[in-house]
Amino acid sequence: MEKKNTYLGNDGLLHCTVCNEAVEVKFDVPVMGITGHGRMCKCQRELQKQIEERQRQQEEHIKRDRCFPSCIQHEWTFENDNGRNSKMQVAKKYVANWNEMKKNGLGLLLWGSVGSGKSYMAACVANELIKQGADVKMTNFATVLNDLFNCEDKNEYIRSLCRYSLLILDDLGIERNTEYSLENLFNVIDARYVSGKAMIITTNLNLEELKNQKQLSLKRIYDRVLERCIPVCVSENDFRKDNRVEAKVKFGKIINGGKMDEEKYE
Ligand SMILES: [Zn+2]
Repeated sequence: MEKKNTYLGNDGLLHCTVCNEAVEVKFDVPVMGITGHGRMCKCQRELQKQIEERQRQQEEHIKRDRCFPSCIQHEWTFENDNGRNSKMQVAKKYVANWNEMKKNGLGLLLWGSVGSGKSYMAACVANELIKQGADVKMTNFATVLNDLFNCEDKNEYIRSLCRYSLLILDDLGIERNTEYSLENLFNVIDARYVSGKAMIITTNLNLEELKNQKQLSLKRIYDRVLERCIPVCVSENDFRKDNRVEAKVKFGKIINGGKMDEEKYE
């Protein structure tokens, strides 16, 4: 540290002319010929703090760039939220309990119709966790499948997705359901599942479609997701729709003596 702008104080130590703090420490007895050492005064400590804060902000910016597909999502934060979606509270609680969520590999399944704000909610979680120092990746299923199709080492790509403490996958269910893509999709979800790492998944699919999937290659993906991601209905309308579906299923079971009812009552 610089020792410019100092004066010799009454205590025999050099002091900073700005903050008047001593800028050196002297030993009572010299140690191996050394009589003392410098110390940071208040100005230097504040300068140091500013440098560290700037570094932290730079690192945070790099993390945000790496996390999101575009800069738009940098602005999708709890602070910028209009407060209209009551389910935002769930996202806030998830962040507040992040250490426990992370330890248990627990995530969220944000489901609801198009435009209900699922991606916004997921990005809010990402931004807040990045602020806290976490490594987060937000991408979507179409991009992951495209990347997997084009990359040379698929295992390495999947491993790279597992390095993030939180992986957010947008738009489950809009990918083309070829056996090849479903196999790849399963591998990504399964790798996160096996490594016990948290995921947040958004989907336009109805919860019932996820729970009662008949196609096996889809079912094993959805089962993995449902095992670790807590379903949160993001749009109030869909929640009612889901209740209606559940009521219908119950109704069908009752009149069919416990068996699932395939018939429609509309
Ligand atoms: Zn000073």
